[in-house]
Amino acid sequence: MMKTVVKFGGSSLASAAQFQKVGKIIHSDVARRYVVPSAPGRRFGGDMKVTDMLYECYRLAEEDKNFQGALENIKARYMEIIKGLFLNFSIDEKFEEIAKNFRNKVGECYAASRGEYLNGIIMAKYLEFEFVDAAEVICFKENGNFDAEKTDEVMSKRLEGLQKVVIPGFYGAKPNGSVKTFSRGGSDITGSLVAKAVHANLYENWTDVSGFLVTDPRIVKDPVTISTITYREMRELSYMGATVLHEDAIFPLRKEGIPINVRNTNCPEDPGTMIVESTCNKPKYTITGIGGKKGFVSITIEKAMMNAEIGFGRKVLQVFEENGLSFEHTPSGIDTFTVYVHQSEFESKEQQVIADLHRAVQPDLIELESDLALVAVVGRGMRHTRGTAGRIFSALAHAHVNVKMIDQGSSELNIIIGVENRDFETAIQAIYEIFVIAQK
Ligand code: ASP
Repeated sequence: MMKTVVKFGGSSLASAAQFQKVGKIIHSDVARRYVVPSAPGRRFGGDMKVTDMLYECYRLAEEDKNFQGALENIKARYMEIIKGLFLNFSIDEKFEEIAKNFRNKVGECYAASRGEYLNGIIMAKYLEFEFVDAAEVICFKENGNFDAEKTDEVMSKRLEGLQKVVIPGFYGAKPNGSVKTFSRGGSDITGSLVAKAVHANLYENWTDVSGFLVTDPRIVKDPVTISTITYREMRELSYMGATVLHEDAIFPLRKEGIPINVRNTNCPEDPGTMIVESTCNKPKYTITGIGGKKGFVSITIEKAMMNAEIGFGRKVLQVFEENGLSFEHTPSGIDTFTVYVHQSEFESKEQQVIADLHRAVQPDLIELESDLALVAVVGRGMRHTRGTAGRIFSALAHAHVNVKMIDQGSSELNIIIGVENRDFETAIQAIYEIFVIAQK
């Protein structure tokens, strides 16, 4: 029998009406047996996510201020959902317990986790599924690190034989029982851990967009949706700023070859984006996606005969390491070596780095250029298509974008282009036009 894990994000569970859509989705496919809810998200622009309300409420408790009003507002969010779903049960006791634990200052993680915990209980009642507390099955070590092995073992045992379950997202517990959360957006991780533990055929991640878009809709109006993307392509794109899914949700599944389908609760008829290990499904366009980030500095170190100096690159990179800076790219020429770093991290260390470089490699010249952006053109289809780079650069030239740096990864999965910050949007629009609009 097919097994599908379904995770619903906060906007999919923000109100009773959203719960009803979710209920319909779950009941329309018997394979949807494992449900992972987030906490209620925003119902409208300017609204607050319950997780944020919980953090704020707990802060009051920690500062020995009156938090009862803030907690009542959170309770009201759940009451509205319970009433709207015509469920007949009380959460008074749960809230008394939460208030007591807040007074005892049991911790911020516990506070934040109640958003998912309560939503899980409501969801289980609504669907008539069994509720399994994530604190039982998601294990953290005493030092707070996630314990993948133990989680897999405990969870697969606990879920064995259960037909239909709700497991709240975002948190687990340490061996002493204290609650620990993942980083924000962590319900995605819970979903993928459940999928791994039960050897699911599919992990559906339901959110409020119909999958991944080829590029940022703030830069290109109504970009097309990516129908299939590989884990590697996604990693390249999410690193460059495209985030729909928590990064750490990918690793547990990648190892198991379980595909992820990102879907839209508000448009369940849309097929969304499939994220897979590998596919022979040819992308519709040569490129899969365009990502990018602003705010880089390039440090170019020039020295005559550098190419003959063994250990030059190592010594340069060591300076960055010792200054606690991670580098992004290192394009080089015969007598030049350039390092790209994040401007925000570099600025305070600039003079130290220059001094250290002088000491380490005695360069003829060090040149800095700031306010640079990196654009990543990603696509498994590029490997088999001649002229991709040519098309990118002629599109950029036509758009009057000056290319500062080019780096094609050896996997031929991506081409990274350095441009000035002010050309960033134009560069992405030009590349989108040449590959998507011209090919439509
Ligand atoms: N509710 C948590 C957050 O807002 C976790 C999640 O939604 O995935 O970050």
